[in-house]
Formats: sequence, structure tokens, C-alpha cells
Amino acid sequence: MTLSKAVSQKYAKTIEKCSNEEIYIALLEMVKTMAEDKVSNEGKKKLYYISAEFLIGKLLSNNLINLGIYDSVKSELAASGKSLAEIEEIELEPSLGNGGLGRLAACFVDSIATLGLNGDGVGLNYHYGLFKQVFENNLQKETPNPWITENSWLTKTDITYPVQFGGFTVQSRLYDIDVVGYNNRTTKLRLFDIESVDESIVGDTIDFNKDEIEKNLTLFLYPDDSDDKGRLLRVYQQYFMVSNAARLLIDEAVAKGSNLHDLADYAAVQINDTHPSMVIPELIRLLQERGILMDEAIEIVQKVCAYTNHTILAEALEKWPIAFLDKAVPQLMPIIRELDNRIRGKVSDESTYIIKDGLVHMAHMDIHYGYSVNGVAYLHTEILKDSELNNFYKLYPEKFNNKTNGITFRRWLMSCNPELSAMITDLIGEGWKKDANELEKLGNFVNDDAVLDRLLAVKAGKKAELKNYLSMTQSMNFDENSIFDIQVKRLHEYKRQQMNALYVIHKYFEIKEGKKPKTPITVFFGAKAAPAYIIAKDIIHLILCLQTIINNDPEVSPYLKVFMVENYNVTLAEKMIPACDISEQISLASKEASGTGNMKFMLNGAVTLGTMDGANVEIAELVGEDNIFTFGEDSQTVIDRYARGDYKSRDYYEENENLKQAVDFIVSDTVKAVGNSENLERLYKELLNKDWFMTFPDFDMYVEAREKAYDAYADRKAWAKKMLVNISKAGFFSSDRTIEQYNKEIWKLN
Ligand SMILES: *Cc1c(COP(=O)(O)O)cnc(C)c1O
Repeated sequence: MTLSKAVSQKYAKTIEKCSNEEIYIALLEMVKTMAEDKVSNEGKKKLYYISAEFLIGKLLSNNLINLGIYDSVKSELAASGKSLAEIEEIELEPSLGNGGLGRLAACFVDSIATLGLNGDGVGLNYHYGLFKQVFENNLQKETPNPWITENSWLTKTDITYPVQFGGFTVQSRLYDIDVVGYNNRTTKLRLFDIESVDESIVGDTIDFNKDEIEKNLTLFLYPDDSDDKGRLLRVYQQYFMVSNAARLLIDEAVAKGSNLHDLADYAAVQINDTHPSMVIPELIRLLQERGILMDEAIEIVQKVCAYTNHTILAEALEKWPIAFLDKAVPQLMPIIRELDNRIRGKVSDESTYIIKDGLVHMAHMDIHYGYSVNGVAYLHTEILKDSELNNFYKLYPEKFNNKTNGITFRRWLMSCNPELSAMITDLIGEGWKKDANELEKLGNFVNDDAVLDRLLAVKAGKKAELKNYLSMTQSMNFDENSIFDIQVKRLHEYKRQQMNALYVIHKYFEIKEGKKPKTPITVFFGAKAAPAYIIAKDIIHLILCLQTIINNDPEVSPYLKVFMVENYNVTLAEKMIPACDISEQISLASKEASGTGNMKFMLNGAVTLGTMDGANVEIAELVGEDNIFTFGEDSQTVIDRYARGDYKSRDYYEENENLKQAVDFIVSDTVKAVGNSENLERLYKELLNKDWFMTFPDFDMYVEAREKAYDAYADRKAWAKKMLVNISKAGFFSSDRTIEQYNKEIWKLN
């Protein structure tokens, strides 16, 4: 089917005469039809990847690529004077995720489809997703982000279940999104919603009545959990998600001939972080309802469920008050108590119990009653085994395994950087699109001047494109020949945007004192902060103040500019990552489980400036020390210092002139003139009295490594070589590799 044919059937006119909206709708329908015609794997055993988040991004271009019609549609459009880029702008990006965890789930469903595995993603159909970030007076404001339009990728199904909560029942409805694999099969993203959801209770802000669960259950992703009502609503959401998933799983298994005793031959459940943990007691409950006794139900579920740990930040491992579960899901509490009692009967280490001090520890339930526990990068898994989950590792060493994260190359190279993709294909053929390891062949060209020049030209083109885009959409203006130094990711103190900001202040002072950089620098930030995370919002405030001060200072701005893009999301990531020169991956060692942004940047020829944390460790190993800039204290030093509990940031501040100057600037008259004293003072005090993520001990090393990277950038040939080595070694980080490992070692789908 060509687009012209689809358009003429639908509107009885030519592409030329259609509006962009009409073309978008025709494309949407065409893709849906083509997806329906593809086969899915109908094997006996099926994977259910349950996740509270799927940060899928826009789907049009990716679907066109995966269906193999991207080029033909693009040229059909071009021939009629239309631009695919403009048509893409019509699609709204759903914000069904916060950041890396949700984006990982989206990459995984793409790879599951591409590898032709029998597996679906299962989650919730949030009508407003997370939130849309806007900046006002240098502060973050959150507004609702509706994305479901009359014509969307969602397909309403006739699958619906009554879901019982304490005191009331809601009726669910399943919506599917087809996930098209690359030149292969399809699978589905299955998003549950409630029939009674009421969008009218949402106004201009993300505040809403949290009491009426029947109306609000699927409005937002993770409503503000700074208060009990928000936290309770999360419990309702989580149970709703897993109860539907469990019933779908059982129905599909039974339809294929399962007698439920053999459920593990029909289903594997991957619990993506602790949010879907209640699937364990819920499956047990449903099996009991169907006549299976407790002992056997537990045994069955234990062969079905596997758990992925995404963080070693203790505060992120969910613990729900018993009172919440008693109120929202009273039918589960007796089962959870029974699960806990069985552990108490056989395990002496109390730290592993499920119920402690009136709290239900979700991860503990996952580890005791799942058959696999995986970390998401080599270092992360080692830290889980050696310290964070050591007590569990001692009980079940055989359950622990590593699955280093990955990204789909269809979206993060072919779709977002067609120019680089074309260059790679010219050099090494098409094979890399199916087998990412073939990128290694690029290693043959590291001394080929023509190739290196072409690579620099591709990068320059993407930088010019980003400049154009940000000038049109966010009124930003900067030098496209400057170094693009980028840190985009959720805002969190452990990711240390504040340390990057301190560097920017330091550079500002150097330029003021006459020490000008060889090449002008443009520093980009992009980050949403959780609405209730005060210090994170103060850091955004500081960065926005720096943007105002520095970009308007005629002495400094020719050499240094700073921008915080508004509403960082997948769409922006796809524009920024291909344009990046230096990828900032500067989390405190031991705190970033893996990171996936680091992989996307590397794949697009950016050079990493980072700590030895998460998957950075594996990147460093692959590219070698000449092709990455690493710095900072190592994870063991950090872990030991936390154990001693003797870190005093003030000591570093008193002894370090440059650091002191940068920190003091936060509360200077210059910054206060464009910002709020309250926010700035609070951030200043936090750094001086706490600095929990230890930016001060790493500061000097960070400055040194960053200067080294900027110096290296000036030698364009040598830099291009680093870029090419990074691209050539990125194959390992394909999510196809990750999913193959999950399947071989955990799911064992047939
Ligand atoms: C990849 C991605 C992330 C994760 O970035 P990290 O640097 O790994 O934290 C977050 N948000 C978006 C939009 C992404 O595409």
C-alpha cells in the first residue's frame, strides 16, 4: 500500500491537496492496517513484561522504519511538497514514564517484537501521563499533558474485568498499541484503563481530587506522593495494573490449554521494579479462586515471576503501610501475611522479612517469591550482591543475575539520526541493523581521513539542526560551532546536575578573569523534577538563573552559554542526542544503576565525560581510556564513606578556593537579582551542610576531566577518531542483546 493510494481512498484527493493533519491520520491508519497483517508469535509460553511505565515516545517514524516503508513514505511526501518532519510534529508524545526505567520498558517491547518473541508489555493507560514542564520566573511549573486524541495509536479491545477494591469495584477496559518489530513480527503494549475515568476533574494544574478512585485512577502517572492520599492512590493503581495483568495472563494460558497447574509452561512475568510486585499475591489469590491450594499456588507463582531491581537508593524500594493495603486491597493482606509467615518459619535473618514495623517490603516479597533477581549493569549487580541485597544473596545466590540494559537502535540511531545511519551503511553494509555487533567493522576506518571528515560533517549537520529546532521552538540562540556539552535526564541529586552547575559558575568566573576557552562552549540541561522534590526544583531554579545571567553577559556569552530546555522528553532526546559532543554522565559512583542515556549518546558519536558508575564502567571497558573521560572517586570509596558516616562537605568547601567561589555565587547578589532568595539559600545550605551525593570531593577531578575533554575537542581529527570508536563499540548496548539474554537465562520462551 502506498500513501497516495491510502490518501486517495480515504479523502478522494492527492497528497498535495491534503493538510498535514489529514496525512497524519492516513498514515496512522495505514500503519495500523499493516501491523494487523503481520504475524505474532503464538508459541505456548508467553512473557508478560509488567511495568508501571512505558515511555514510548512518538510512534509514527519508528513504525514506518520497522515496517520498512520509512524511505518510500518520505519520498512520496517530498514529491508532493510535504515534509515528514512537519507531519511528525502533529503527533503528541504520551508521557507514560518518568525517565530511564520507562524508556527501558519501551525499548524492550521493540526488541521483543523484533526478535519475534512471544511477549507483551502490560501497563496503565494514564490519560495525562506525567506532567508537562513549563518554566515561569525561572521556576518549574507542572501542567497536565493530555495526549489521547480522537485518532491515536490506541485500539479499544473488548477485554474488560471487574476489579475489586476495599468497598467498591471498578470495571477495567484494555487498550492495545501494536508494537511493530523491525521487518518482523508484532507484539502488543497492553494498557488498562477504567471505564469510569473522568477527565473533567482535572483543571489547569496537576492537582485533582484524589478521593474519587472511580474517576481518577488512570488520570496521572504517579500522582504526587508527598501526601498520604497520593501514596494511597499509587497502591490502587498498582493493584489495578497487576490484577488485570494476572487475569489476562490466566485467561490467555487457559485458552491455550493450560490447566493452571502447568501455568509456568505458559507464562513468564517480569516485574519491572517493585511497582508490579502485588502480582505475586494476586496470582496466588486468583489460582486459589480457581481451586488450587495455597502450597501449590505459591509454587506455581514462584516459577512464573522474576524481578528486576533498578536502584540501590534505599528510599526507592517501596514499602507500603499495612493500613494502606488493608484499605485498598483487603483481599491481599492475608496472603501477604501468609507469605511472610512462611519466610519467618524458615529464615532466621529478620532483615529479609516481608512485613516489618507495620510496612510491607515489596522487593523482599519479589526476591523470596520470584525465581530470578536481576540488576541492570555489571557494577549494579555486584553492588546488589555484595552490599545492598547481600542478605538475600546469601539465601539465594542462584537467583541473582545481571542483565546490562540496552537501547533500541531503530529509534536511537536509524530514526533520530538517518544521516549517521546512511554513512554507517555506506561503510559496512546493512548488516548492523539486524546484528548490532557488526558496528565493530567501523573500527577499520579509524585512520581514514575521509571517513573522519564525513563523521564530523554529519555531527555538524545535526548540531545545526538542533540549533534551528531550539531557536524555533524555545527561542534559544547559540553558536552551532561551539562544543555541545549535554546533560539530559531526570533531575535528581544523585545524578548531580548541581555539580555541572557549579562547573558552569567556575567557568563563568574564569572567563570574567580573562581566561577564555579555546572553543566556545554551550552547556545544555534538560530535566523534569518530581513535583514534591524541593531541592531538585531549587537546582532547576539555579540553572535557569545561570542561563539568564550568563547568556546576557556580553563578556561571557561569546565563550559560554547555558540552556535548560523546557519539558525534556523522548522527542527532545531524539533531537539533542545526535547533536551532542560531550555526554555528561556524572552520577555519584555506586548510585546510577545503569543509565541508558549514556548508551544513546555513545551510539551517536558523543564522547562520555563520566564517573565509573553504572554502565559507564562497561562503556569505558569497551572503548578504552583514550576514548572516554572518566573522573571521580570510585564506588567502593563512596560506599565506605557512607558506611563511616563521616562526610562533611564544609571541610572541602573551606579548603578549596574554586569550589568556595562557585558555591558562594549561588547566594550572591548577582544570582539573587534574577532569582528567589528562598530557593537559592535553601540549595546553598543543603550543599554546605549535607551534600548527600558528595559533589564536593569530586569537584576538582570533574573540572580537570572537563578541561581535558575540551582541550581534546580542539584536535578535530583525534576527536573524530574517538567518536568513531564509540560508535563502533556501541553494539553491545543494543536492547536486542539484552532481551536475548533475558530470554535465554530467565524467560526461556519457546
Ligand atoms: C533515555 C532517556 C532517559 C534516561 O536517561 P539516563 O541518562 O539514563 O537517566 C530519560 N528520559 C528520556 C526522555 C530518555 O530518552
